[in-house]
Amino acid sequence: MGEGMRRMRGWVVGAVLACAMAAPTVSGQEVVAFENVTVLTMDDDRRMEGRTVLVEDGLITRVGAAGSVEVPDGALRIDGRGRFLMPGLAEMHAHVPPTPNPPRELLEDYMFLYVANGITTIRGMLGQAYQIELADELEGGDLLGPTFYVGAPSINGNSAPTPDDAERLIRAHAGAGYDLQKIHPGVSRESWDRMVAVAEEVGLTYGGHVPADVGLEHALATGMSTVDHLDGYVTAVASEGVQAQVSTGTISLGGLVEGAEEARIQEIIRRSLEADVYVVPTQYLWESLYAGRDPDEYLGLPEMVYVSSEQREAWRQQGSGGPQGTPEELEAFFDLRDRILVELADAGVGILMGTDSPQLYNVPGFALHREIAEMEGAGMTRDQILRSGTVEVARYVGDHLGLADNFGTVAEGNRADLVLLEEDPLEDLDHLTGRVGVMVRGQWVSAEEISAGLDALAAKHAR
Ligand SMILES: [Zn+2]
Repeated sequence: MGEGMRRMRGWVVGAVLACAMAAPTVSGQEVVAFENVTVLTMDDDRRMEGRTVLVEDGLITRVGAAGSVEVPDGALRIDGRGRFLMPGLAEMHAHVPPTPNPPRELLEDYMFLYVANGITTIRGMLGQAYQIELADELEGGDLLGPTFYVGAPSINGNSAPTPDDAERLIRAHAGAGYDLQKIHPGVSRESWDRMVAVAEEVGLTYGGHVPADVGLEHALATGMSTVDHLDGYVTAVASEGVQAQVSTGTISLGGLVEGAEEARIQEIIRRSLEADVYVVPTQYLWESLYAGRDPDEYLGLPEMVYVSSEQREAWRQQGSGGPQGTPEELEAFFDLRDRILVELADAGVGILMGTDSPQLYNVPGFALHREIAEMEGAGMTRDQILRSGTVEVARYVGDHLGLADNFGTVAEGNRADLVLLEEDPLEDLDHLTGRVGVMVRGQWVSAEEISAGLDALAAKHAR
C-alpha cells in the first residue's frame, strides 16, 4: 500500500499492550531521552559514545553529544550509561495468519512476541484482506506492534495456472493495496513473464520462492526482488547435467550438492549482485525441515511455552517425517548453503533477516534469534548480520517497495524503532537478547513489561 493510504495519528498509547500484559504499561510519555548512551547507528560500524538521543512524537529528533542536547521538562529519561542503543530488528519472512478474520487475541499475541524480541518491522509473506487494516492499525498506534509490510496472497501453480490468471491476480493485489506479491512454486514461465510485465506496469514488486519452470537465473534477470529460503540457488550453481536431472526429479540430495561448480557459484553471485536482489536465507527453518531431528529436541526449547499446545502438536506432526538425506548428504548440503550465503554477503548482495515463523518450530520473534545464530554459524560477520535486520531492510523497503525508508538506522528524522541493550551486540550477538527495553514508533516498552507480558502468555498456554 502507498504510504499516503496509511494514517499517521501521532502518539501511541501504552494501554494497547494491556491484553497481553499482566502489568500496566508506561504510557503517554510524549518525549523520551536516552541519555549518555553508546549508539550503534548501523550507518557504518562506528560506535558513537556518550550520546543523548531524543524521541518526540514517534520520531528520533536529536542525536547529539550528551551535554549538548537539551532534554525537555517532563520527558521520560532513560539512563544509557554503559548501554547500547541500536535500531530495532526486522522479521522479513513472517506469516501473519492467512485465513480471513483470525482470532484477534492470536494477532495481538504475535505482535507482542515480535516486540518482546526487539523486532520493530515485519514483512508478511502470505496475504489476506484483513492484514491491510491490521497494518494501518499498527501504523496508527491502535495496536502496539511492528511496522507491517503486507505481502499479497500467493501467485502459484494453482492460483495462476494461466498467464491471464497471473495478470488478473497481480492487478487485483496492486489495487487492494498490498505492498508486494508473494510467489510460490508451480508458476509456468509464461505466467511468470506476464506477471513480470504487469507488475512493472502496476508498480508491485514480487518475492518468495523461485518456481522450477522459471529458474533462478530468469527470476533474477526479470527483477525478482527477494529470493527467500535461498530457493533455487543450490540448483542454479550445479552443472548443466545435474540441473537436467533436477528437472526430471532423478537426483539425490547428495548428487545435487556434488554437482556444484565453482564457476557457476561465481556466476550466480555476480548475477545476484547485478540484479539487486535480496536474499532471505531462513537457515534455521531449512535445518529443521531437512535434518528431520526428533521433534522433542525442538519442542523442549524454552520459547515453546509461548505458543499453544495445538500449535506445538501441529509442529510435532509436521516435523516427524525424518531426515531428507544421509548425515553426509545433509552436512554437504548445509555447508553449500552456508557457503553461498557468505559469498553473497561478502559480494555485497543484500541479505535480509527472516525465519518463516510460525512455520515448523519457529516461535514468532524468538525464531529470529535462532536464525541469527545460524547466520553467524554459516560465517557471516556480526556486522553483516546486524545490517541484514536493520539498514539493509530500509534499503529494500525504499528501493523495491517504494515506501518510506526512514528506519533501520539511528538518525534524526527516522522512526523511533529502537532496542536498548545492556551489552554490545557487535561483540557477541547473544547480547541482542539482553534488553533494557524496546521502543516501537516512540513507545517505550521496558524489559519488566516484556517479561510480564511473556509470563502472562506462558500462563495462558499452560492452562
Ligand atoms: Zn513462508
